[in-house]
Formats: sequence, C-alpha cells, structure tokens
Amino acid sequence: MTFRHRHLLGIEQLHPEEIRTLLDLADQYVDLNRREMKHSEALAGLTQINMFFEASTRTQASFELAGKRLGADVMNMAMQASSLKKGETLIDTALTLNAMHPDLLVVRHPHSGAVSLLSEKVNCAVLNAGDGRHEHPTQALLDALTIRRRKGRLHRLSIAICGDVAHSRVARSNIILLGKMENRVRLVGPPTLIPSGAADWGVEVFDDMAEGLKDVDVVMMLRLQKERMDGAFIPSEREYFHRFGLDAEKLAHAKDDAIVMHPGPMNRGVEIDGTIADDINRSVIQEQVEMGVAVRMAAMDLLARNLKAARAEQGVMV
Ligand code: ASP
Repeated sequence: MTFRHRHLLGIEQLHPEEIRTLLDLADQYVDLNRREMKHSEALAGLTQINMFFEASTRTQASFELAGKRLGADVMNMAMQASSLKKGETLIDTALTLNAMHPDLLVVRHPHSGAVSLLSEKVNCAVLNAGDGRHEHPTQALLDALTIRRRKGRLHRLSIAICGDVAHSRVARSNIILLGKMENRVRLVGPPTLIPSGAADWGVEVFDDMAEGLKDVDVVMMLRLQKERMDGAFIPSEREYFHRFGLDAEKLAHAKDDAIVMHPGPMNRGVEIDGTIADDINRSVIQEQVEMGVAVRMAAMDLLARNLKAARAEQGVMV
C-alpha cells in the first residue's frame, strides 16, 4: 500500500501514486455503497469526531455517513454555536479533544492553516474538511474520482476551473491535484477573482468564457464565496451571470462530451444556469456527491491503517 501519511491535510503533501491508491480504494467503496448491505468493519471500535467551525451540508453529512458505514463511533460537535464564539483557543480545543481519545478528527475551519496547527496538538489522525481559502483535499479527490470514472483516465485532460478562484479552497486543491496528474488546467474568470500570480501555477488564465472553455473535457464551476469577500469583486450578479455564468451557449464551446461539475452549494442563475445543472447528459454534480462518500471512506480507512500500524509500533494496544 502506498499511502504514508498520518493526516490528510492537503493535496500538496500527496504523491501521485498515493492519489491513485486512494482513488482505487474509493472505487471499491463505490461498489459497497451501491449494495443493500453497506457495512464494513474498517473503523470498528474507533471514534471519529467531526468538528465544523464553518457551515457545511455535503461534506459533514458524507463524513458522518462514511464513518458509520465503516463501523466507527461518530460524533458531531456543533462548533459554530459553541466554543469559537466563546473565545476558546485551538490549543484548548485540542486538549479537550485529547481527553476524549478520538482516533479520527475531521475539521473544517475558517482560517487557512488552522487544521494543520490542530493536527500538531492532538494524538489522532486529522482530516482537513476545508480550511479558509487554503485546501479542501477530499473535495479535489472526489472530483478526481468523478473525472476518472467518467473520462476513463485522469491525465492529459483539458480542464477549465471557472469563477471565483481567488477565494476558493476547492480550486486550489484541484489545481494542485490535476497538475500532479499531468492535466492541462485553465482558470477562467474576471481578473478580480483570479489571484495575481496564478500564471506561475502552471495554468492558463482566461477572462472570457468562450476562449477559456474552447475544447475542454471538463468544466468545473465555482460558487462566488461572498463570505470571504470584503468589498465588491463583481459589478452585479446579473452582469456576472451574463459574462461568466455557465449556460448552454457558453458550454457549446467545450467538447461535445464535456462534463459539468460544481462542488455545491450552487447559486443557480449566478454561476450556473439551472437547466445545465440538471442536465443529466452533461452535469455530474450528483455523482460528485456519491463519490464524496466513497472518497471519505477510503481516506479514513487508509489513515486508520497507518494509525494502527504506528500504535502497534509504539506498543499501544489497538
Ligand atoms: N463546499 C465547498 C467548500 O466548502 C465549496 C463552496 O462552499 O463553495 O469550499
């Protein structure tokens, strides 16, 4: 098995071979999830705590389901409402957690780097479920699995990531992953939403959808991250949809069999036309959600194996 990490903090740390290992295992979990009996014992006896300091629908639900299907005891801590507001520091949170002896900790936090900091203070495997605008590794992995299954490969594809790249951890993790797997990545959006320096990331940058989408295999749309914007980055949502919202006319510039992706939550009529989002011949948005559960099962399974191996080496009973 090639997956040597104690935590899953970002795509940055992963080797292409490790990405393949994780996706291969996730493929097996897709099969399991489609059966009537969906249980495995991979995490039996282990405790998984989900700590979301920022709102989440898909990610939290799928981590919870993934843990339960693998037999873990899963607990969700309602962090938004509690300690952060009362001013508890991350270090205090970590000490509290250590006292509860979790084995897997799934964390989402509004600050870039906070999850990594926490991982240094706790005695368990940590999975980053999104930290600020930094990384969202399981999203990029589920996107990769969706692309690989739909396109039959995960290399030498032309992929356009469109919209609010500047504030998006999904874009960042995807750019890193797709680059590692040797794809051609294009960023398409208004210059105000494309980070300066993006041209140095080994991507091509466009501010016109017709040019940016020309002959691509995959169109990945991003939500406008209003919660991370201070000030106005677009003239108006109407104007934004007109120039950068994905509709049939703009999609016609991509390859005939190009797939449309969106990490959710979607703003219909802002970055994507509802008809495109619902078009089962083009949109793989629901499939992304399905792949999300399988990828999170694979990630937790691999980390649990490493955790058990490390504890066994230290002579700790597992
Ligand atoms: N759900 C994704 C995230 O947490 C994308 C988004 O919120 O736009 O980053």
